Amino acid sequence: MAILTKPFRVFATCDIGEALDLLRRRGYQIEVYPDPKAPPKRLIIEKVRSGIDGLITTLRDQIDAEVFEAGKGTLKVVAQFAVGFDNINRADANRYKIPFTNTADVLTEATAEFAFFMLGALARKLWASEHLTRKYEWGFWHPYLPFLGDEVTGKTIAIIGTGRIGLAMIKKCAGFDMNILCYDPAYQNHDYMKAIQETMALRHARGIQKEKTWIKYVSFEDSLEQSDFISVHVPLLREGDSDTPTFHLFNERTLHMMRPTAFLVNTSRGPVVDENALAKALKENWIAGAALDVYEKEPLPADSPLRDPAIEDRCRLFPHFASAAKITRLSTDPDKGMAGRCVQGLIDVVEKNYGGDVKKMPYVVNKEAF
Ligand code: NAD
Repeated sequence: MAILTKPFRVFATCDIGEALDLLRRRGYQIEVYPDPKAPPKRLIIEKVRSGIDGLITTLRDQIDAEVFEAGKGTLKVVAQFAVGFDNINRADANRYKIPFTNTADVLTEATAEFAFFMLGALARKLWASEHLTRKYEWGFWHPYLPFLGDEVTGKTIAIIGTGRIGLAMIKKCAGFDMNILCYDPAYQNHDYMKAIQETMALRHARGIQKEKTWIKYVSFEDSLEQSDFISVHVPLLREGDSDTPTFHLFNERTLHMMRPTAFLVNTSRGPVVDENALAKALKENWIAGAALDVYEKEPLPADSPLRDPAIEDRCRLFPHFASAAKITRLSTDPDKGMAGRCVQGLIDVVEKNYGGDVKKMPYVVNKEAF
């Protein structure tokens, strides 16, 4: 392996494990922010101003013009350890012509399966029933006391956003004999839908599933009104980012359109759901329950209305955990782990792989700037 004459310098705002050794072995000088909490922005700016070649970031770091200005002429790449990149100002990155990378694909299945488990925990009241056992409140077996859950099998789920994670979620829901409504204003994968429909038909024909199930694209309104479960898989897009922004896509108006028996699952980004509206919807029983992995402000503040004990039984709260599985997070293999993919994205840009053509680099997001 070639040892670099002038080593590339990288600052990582967070430890991403053994993958950093791949860089060290290539002769890079790596500095890792030692605290598990995110560094203050002024420290990131200071490090960038000191002339680093690459910056490894997480969704906790706000990366915008101030950071890019500090890295003018020296910063070559921002490598984000996540698929979502709403913390990076894309327009600013483009203005300064700094490529940034993400870790799409490697967390798709992990995130989708977690969304499905959240759905299951919510529907079958796993938390409340374990609580009962642990608190010695399980006094007798009874046909319906103290409560019952809702089956998932045979129900209808709406998938909001049929990108990578939405499609993976569809596959898992199809395996649970669910009917599937899909909504996506920008990307409709009809081949995938056809394949799922054929799989459903085959499973029914061969006696693997008792009832016939179906999948189809519908309008947003229909997806809200006709489903028993809704699972959200959109990026966070604010007004001006897109013709169909997702900021507060779930608000008082749209939550009111859901069935009173329906459940909402959100593993996308917190601001996609108006939390005040959701807390009200749960308290006033407009909907039956919600499970959240992401929040408008993270970590979830102590005074969040979602912590209201009055809705505790129907509001499951998780700590932005959907991709938090060992291989998914830490594998050094860029085809398996976020860490491996993050580091490879950085190497591609810094070492001018693909003939230095940023447009050809698979993990660069803002190709339009080059
Ligand atoms: P993706 O880009 O492949 O898919 C997103 C889809 O949403 C696209 O098909 C897009 O057309 C669609 N979309 C855009 N605007 C929409 C709208 N208004 N209504 C409905 N659909 C809309 O992204 P992905 O890899 O599937 O990831 C989705 C998001 O999940 C990420 O952006 C990230 O924020 C989040 N995520 C969270 C975790 C977690 O740990 N909780 C893990 C991974 C990803």
